[in-house]
Amino acid sequence: LFVVFEGADGTGKSTQVDAVSATLRAAGHDVVVTREPGGSVVAEKLRSLVLDPAHEISPITEALIFAAARADHIEKTIAPALAAGQIVISDRFVGSSIAYQSAGRGLSRETIVNINAYATAGLTPDVTVVLDLDESVAGRRRVERAELTDRMESAPEGFQDAVRASFLAQVQAAPERHLVVDAAQTPEAITHQIVTHLSTKYGV
Ligand code: C5P
Repeated sequence: LFVVFEGADGTGKSTQVDAVSATLRAAGHDVVVTREPGGSVVAEKLRSLVLDPAHEISPITEALIFAAARADHIEKTIAPALAAGQIVISDRFVGSSIAYQSAGRGLSRETIVNINAYATAGLTPDVTVVLDLDESVAGRRRVERAELTDRMESAPEGFQDAVRASFLAQVQAAPERHLVVDAAQTPEAITHQIVTHLSTKYGV
């Protein structure tokens, strides 16, 4: 089973990846937790490169680096784990490229979809959990966590709103493959909702 977590910055995505994977492991499941950009040796190097505030990177270069990182991540980490029957939980996947490089950075959706169809060879998540939160709350959380340290901190006004709207549009386009969670709930309630969904719909 291939599970992806998506959401704008400050929605609590990484907290939920940790909590859900811990719950599944406690229930005896073999779970591989991974992340994007990153998740393999080469992809982690590309992550450092693409998030480094020292570099000015154009939207198309950025999109290709994310896609290259994704190809390596799939080859080295995701595909082998799925082939071995493990549950793979990835913190971000193609949905983030549609949200950030297309809705955020302004490349056409078609470009991002095509680049990623090539990079992934068509691998799609069984289910994508989208953590949805009002941008004013998410923005406050980012500031509280002093998370504004990578290259994306210079994102223009409205960027995070566009990212959020893109995730919600992706859900609307394929509701059967998504779960939207209200990220304003308590962390425990969110974890419970996600685990319940995975168990009722995917028998986990
Ligand atoms: O989720 P995480 O905080 O690890 O993401 C690292 C950074 O990369 C974030 O600032 C996120 O907005 C950005 N990102 C991006 N495009 C992607 C994936 C992540 O701009 N496709």
